[in-house]
Amino acid sequence: MDPEPLKSLPEKWSKAVAIVAHPDDMEFGAAAAVARWTGQGKEVVYVMVTSGEAGIDGMHPDECRRVREAEEIESARIVGVETVEFLGLPDGIVEYGVPLRRTLAEVIRRHRPDIVLTGNFRDSFGPGALNQADHIAVGRAVLDAARDAGNRWVFRELLDQGLEPWNGVKAVLAAGSPQATHGVDVTDTLAKGVESLKAHDAYLSGLGQQMDPEEFLESFARMTGSRLGCPFAVSFEVFALQLF
Ligand SMILES: [Zn+2]
Repeated sequence: MDPEPLKSLPEKWSKAVAIVAHPDDMEFGAAAAVARWTGQGKEVVYVMVTSGEAGIDGMHPDECRRVREAEEIESARIVGVETVEFLGLPDGIVEYGVPLRRTLAEVIRRHRPDIVLTGNFRDSFGPGALNQADHIAVGRAVLDAARDAGNRWVFRELLDQGLEPWNGVKAVLAAGSPQATHGVDVTDTLAKGVESLKAHDAYLSGLGQQMDPEEFLESFARMTGSRLGCPFAVSFEVFALQLF
């Protein structure tokens, strides 16, 4: 079965907020697209729902949190992202629900982005590659929160904090979805994406398996590029909230 061709992702926007479950979620693919966008002068902010503190078997979460936050700040810097926020929810047991939607709606009202990025939140990444519970909970809540942020009468307590509704989100983009519809040419910025993944040195070492960041990201980007018609690309599933 030939993979479906991808459409070129619209780039007439100026600010994105990326909301993902863990440090490293952006770096396993989407960061190369972020490097392209910041290079165009767009502003991208990263928001980590957890600090990935349960991600390294041989390291206590208290130490792991410090290490992984530092690695994420560095990998963000490499792709031109200056602001990284950590919401501090517990890694591995993030629950989809109203409290998470409220937390993320608050983030979206505060930053007022045109685009919200997140990771794939389908059940799998493709045949035989199950997705992870936090990714699914966060992605679903991100999509809901992008709309909640625009409704004055949902989460009225946010008004008391001085956060007016924000109706400006054009689309939520989920990176690496098996149902991707759009692609971004990252031929010129893939190297920055690789460098940003390499910044997760403690995490990658902790995985205890030989994974070459360059080979890993290149092989995916090459396959995606063949669907977009360029050497290297990153894919996104687009959930349009407005004409996009
Ligand atoms: Zn993750």
